[in-house]
Amino acid sequence: MVSSMTSRQRVLAALRREPVDRTPVCNPTSVATVELMDLADAPFPDANRKPELMARLAATGYTELGFDTIMPVFSIIQESSALGCKIQWEQKDNWPTVRMREPIFQKPEDIRIPEGWMNHPDAQCVLQAIRILRKEFGDEVAIIGKTMGPWSLGYHCFGVEPFLLLSLDDEGKTKLCLDRLKEVTVQFGLAQIEAGADALTLPDHATGDLVSGEYYARYLRDLHIEFAARLPAPLILHICGRTVDRMQYIAQTGMAAFHYDSKNKPAESMAITRDKISLVGNINNPETLFSKGPEEVRREVYQNLDAGVQLVGPECAIPLQTAIENLKEIPKAVRDWHKQHAGASLGSVN
Ligand SMILES: [Zn+2]
Repeated sequence: MVSSMTSRQRVLAALRREPVDRTPVCNPTSVATVELMDLADAPFPDANRKPELMARLAATGYTELGFDTIMPVFSIIQESSALGCKIQWEQKDNWPTVRMREPIFQKPEDIRIPEGWMNHPDAQCVLQAIRILRKEFGDEVAIIGKTMGPWSLGYHCFGVEPFLLLSLDDEGKTKLCLDRLKEVTVQFGLAQIEAGADALTLPDHATGDLVSGEYYARYLRDLHIEFAARLPAPLILHICGRTVDRMQYIAQTGMAAFHYDSKNKPAESMAITRDKISLVGNINNPETLFSKGPEEVRREVYQNLDAGVQLVGPECAIPLQTAIENLKEIPKAVRDWHKQHAGASLGSVN
């Protein structure tokens, strides 16, 4: 039994598959809700564009919900905005999105990463929010940043359909795109680590329904290995959908963790990833967290803990109308499960 840890120690240990006092509750992606925006007086879209509001809304994940992490990068478009993509910022009750009908690139040669792109307010907002949080919370809680992978950036800069068509037509050109865009991922990641992020979520939306496991191995595995080598902080890869067909490859990347979707069962996923990479997730968003109650949330938390999943949390950015009660149930259920299992050995092999 490990003596009690701070939230930050607990998360970092679980990302290394080292023993923990209890399983950390971790949100690699957003847990912002309209209710939390009201509580913190930090609504969208301003909470995506003003560092003080971004930090204040993110902090509620720790102070109100009782999670072990704070994750201020709610959206997936901060760096795309800085690169020049047109953004629909929306209102309080909706996510900002890239206007993909107005792509900024048509072919790999078009890709230019503007010098000083990180001075753009929408990139600076993230860096400043991380600094604010680090200063306010010191070492007590894990602060997680987010840098988008080149596949996701390809969708944003070229449009989803054109980028997928290119990947079917021309492997060489697609790889050239990814190779140019990857520097955005590395630069933004390094800047967030320097600002004080303990770990980084790296979403790269080679999602289960759009892209196959073979595609992942062909286009992304080597790039993800490169990110793990070049970014000196634990990386949490995020890919939505059914992904068991690529988990063996993901486990080879050297990334710290894989943020996995509820379309994958905890036990079947653990059987593939074992001790090569930590899993984090996989409480269902659209049905369980959004439209069911605490009892169902608890059942899914227990399924993850029973399977030995290293960190528990929502599977993806939660719907903005999710009830706080359901989110608070996650840390409650984790504590209760550990009480019931007290005495049994904890840690990487439980
Ligand atoms: Zn997702």
